[in-house]
Amino acid sequence: MNNHVTEDIFDFKQMVENSLGAIMIVDDKQNHYANKAALRMLKVNKEDFLQESFHKFLHEDYHAICKNRLYQVIHHGKVAEMMEQKMIRADGEVFDVEIMASPYFLNDNIYALIHIHDIKERKEAEKLLIQSEKLSMLGEISAGIVHEIRNPLTSLKGFIQLMKLDDNRNPKYIKIMEDELERVQTIANDLLKYSKPQDEIYSEVNLVSVIDDVIFLLETELFKKQVQVEFTHELPSVFVNGSESQLKQVLLNLLKNALDASQENKKIFISVDTHNGNVLIKIKDQGYGIQKEEIEKMGTSFFTTKEKGTGLGLMVSYNIIKNHKGIVEVKSEVGIGTTFFITIPAFVK
Ligand code: ADP
Ligand code: MG
Repeated sequence: MNNHVTEDIFDFKQMVENSLGAIMIVDDKQNHYANKAALRMLKVNKEDFLQESFHKFLHEDYHAICKNRLYQVIHHGKVAEMMEQKMIRADGEVFDVEIMASPYFLNDNIYALIHIHDIKERKEAEKLLIQSEKLSMLGEISAGIVHEIRNPLTSLKGFIQLMKLDDNRNPKYIKIMEDELERVQTIANDLLKYSKPQDEIYSEVNLVSVIDDVIFLLETELFKKQVQVEFTHELPSVFVNGSESQLKQVLLNLLKNALDASQENKKIFISVDTHNGNVLIKIKDQGYGIQKEEIEKMGTSFFTTKEKGTGLGLMVSYNIIKNHKGIVEVKSEVGIGTTFFITIPAFVK
């Protein structure tokens, strides 16, 4: 027996109007329709919404790209794929959304049928996670750093004592003192840069200097284990569009993981190359490797095999790379080593 009701008894207008997903119809000059969910999301009434253009509710960082996407929909009848953007509610609150649009054909005209998904809460949870992983990583590396700062401080103190004793202003001492002070300063600056709150807006980031910084931050721990890092890059600098502190967090975690997996006197190879408009970062270790079944678990949950591990590092790193429109791939052989490949679109002016 067939109990289906036929499609023509549905009231599609009511269906769209009451849908819990935000839906609107606009063109590049004017808004034409918004369902209840869309009006609720933007905290605006229908009359005011219809007076405006879509841009009014979009964060200015996305005006140019949105114009382009709307043009493709309205003039070429193309679909604008899902994209994360920021919108502004009528009360001024900025919030994260996923937007996609398809062409809506009516009387020889094409409009954009827009679907919007409010992802404010997901983004906030993600931010908290990124922050807490960062804090736990800071905790992990700070023991090494304290040691790092203590050495130059001790030597500075020693030289000052010496100078006090016999008024000996040996230029050699002064040079060493200057170098030591410089080192403390670089470490402090670097830590400060790393721990400052998330930079939301992406900018041009030089991956070569990010990786140099990361190697520098882990220098004490690398030295303790006598693990050497070989960093090669064809170009003196390689740029992507992104958040410097987040990319540093990813590289710090991957390098720290590689170091954790390595036995004494092994090497870690890092390279940065550009290829077909992409930047490829490789981090290769000669560590204990990962079993096939475990590669799948990595980065999906709180998966860790370390006594003091959080199992958050890879999950957060994968997320950050995804937000940079990049991908992460892993190849590993037990007993031979592991290589992480990160591909991110290169910065274009
Ligand atoms: P944590 O480092 O706190 O354990 P991560 O998310 O950074 O958390 O890593 C999760 C797990 O993935 C690690 O515990 C380890 O088992 C595995 N792993 C990550 N990187 C490597 C690597 N380079 N070599 C071997 N195992 C790795
Ligand atoms: Mg880790």
